[in-house]
Amino acid sequence: MSIQTINPNTNKTLKSFEEMTEKTVEAKVAKAHQAFTDWKETSYQQRADLLHKVATLMRVKKSELAKTITLEMGKLLAQAEGEIDLSADIFDYYADHGEEFLADKVLNPEYGEAIIRNSPIGVLLGVMPWNFPYYQVARFAAPNIMVGNTILLKHASIVPQCAAAIEELFREAEAPEGLYANLFISGKHASALVSDKRIKGVSLTGSEEAGASIAMEAGKHLKKVVLELGGNDVFIILDDADMEKTVEWAVVGRMNNNGQCCVASKRFIAVEAIADEFIQKFKDKLSKMKVGDPMDPSTELGPLSSEEAAVHLADQVKRSVDEGATVLLGGKRADRPGAFMEPTIITDLKPGIAAYHEELFGPVASFYVVKDEQAAIDLANDSDFGLGASVFTQNIERGKKVADQIDTGMVFINHPTWTQADLPFGGTKRSGFGRELSALGIQEFVNKKLIRIS
Ligand code: NDP
Repeated sequence: MSIQTINPNTNKTLKSFEEMTEKTVEAKVAKAHQAFTDWKETSYQQRADLLHKVATLMRVKKSELAKTITLEMGKLLAQAEGEIDLSADIFDYYADHGEEFLADKVLNPEYGEAIIRNSPIGVLLGVMPWNFPYYQVARFAAPNIMVGNTILLKHASIVPQCAAAIEELFREAEAPEGLYANLFISGKHASALVSDKRIKGVSLTGSEEAGASIAMEAGKHLKKVVLELGGNDVFIILDDADMEKTVEWAVVGRMNNNGQCCVASKRFIAVEAIADEFIQKFKDKLSKMKVGDPMDPSTELGPLSSEEAAVHLADQVKRSVDEGATVLLGGKRADRPGAFMEPTIITDLKPGIAAYHEELFGPVASFYVVKDEQAAIDLANDSDFGLGASVFTQNIERGKKVADQIDTGMVFINHPTWTQADLPFGGTKRSGFGRELSALGIQEFVNKKLIRIS
């Protein structure tokens, strides 16, 4: 296993990191456990002060932090800066609202008096992916630090400098030792750590395989787990959609983060009446995207996060074509060094073809034409995933009715699935379980303790 910074724009290895020894990891777990005994006694105000400090530091260092994201996983620099802003907002949001979300709930039982008090549970393990190296950590760490829990963080092995920089932000904010610790360990080692008695819960964002591995350990050792896994979000275009706006959002929904969002719009489903118009406009826009160096502000599509990811995606497209899919645009690796894939649209997909079932984590859109609204809903639900979905129509009531029938954790009307601090995030089916962000996210790793007064 290697923990390395490899610039996906060039595929050159820039820096390698040593995996931590068992002894170092043991010391980190012990410190996190020790820190919990003090942190759980702090006031909400003390916790909020720390989160605000981290947010402020993030904003001060935005440019430097964003460059590291772009260097390690290839996100366009402007989007990396946006990610730092969003992450700082999440820290501030929980600092500002955490106490209110965690306030005692007064019950009204038949006999006596009772309250529910939200108490922290202890050390938590977070296993996070590379696609949003700061945001993914922020939405796990900020609410839980507000709760009074402490954090051990195993980040993806391809973003070690981001991982170290987040730990450094906590150090600079003068967080108590052990409150937040970065672990340079393998995924397998992270799964094995779940059995440690001092670790009380685990949250993973990533692939189904990694999620299943963590969930298996959590099940074996009876620990709470939150999983945010893949998605195959639909982007439904109904006959009354505002076409110009819809096409603009289709490009953003698919290509944001170089196509590597769990909630990216991946399956574009258009009803017959407007399908030709949509696909011509969508194809025209994708074909003009400027592919290149993500540090260059004029670039519109950067590389995938790694050469391995690009090889995998190109293989998924090739397998799909071998099985009967048609390429409408692109379809190959881009003709330049680095982990690049051309902007791609494929169609003629049906059950049995790889792209019908698998998540395509990159700039590849799947396009479907259906007879009507009901056929769009049926196709949307014919997926093992259930993360997000979007529906485009000028009739909001119609959009809400469609939303009711889609089996996902989130449905957006006239916008691709998105995220913000005050909206819950999470899925159904094989996209995982539990919720992050908003008032719901902070309730996942708490002991909802009943206190009954006679
Ligand atoms: P992984 O699931 O492998 O990586 C996510 C995190 O899980 C990383 O920290 C990784 O560590 C860790 N991990 C890997 N294996 C295990 C394990 N057995 N036990 C515990 N932790 C583990 O994702 P990939 O980077 O390989 O991406 C593969 C696919 O996953 C993508 O194509 C996409 O479909 C999906 N994905 C979804 C994301 C989302 O936002 N929901 C984000 C990223 C990926 P390490 O890096 O050391 O392997």
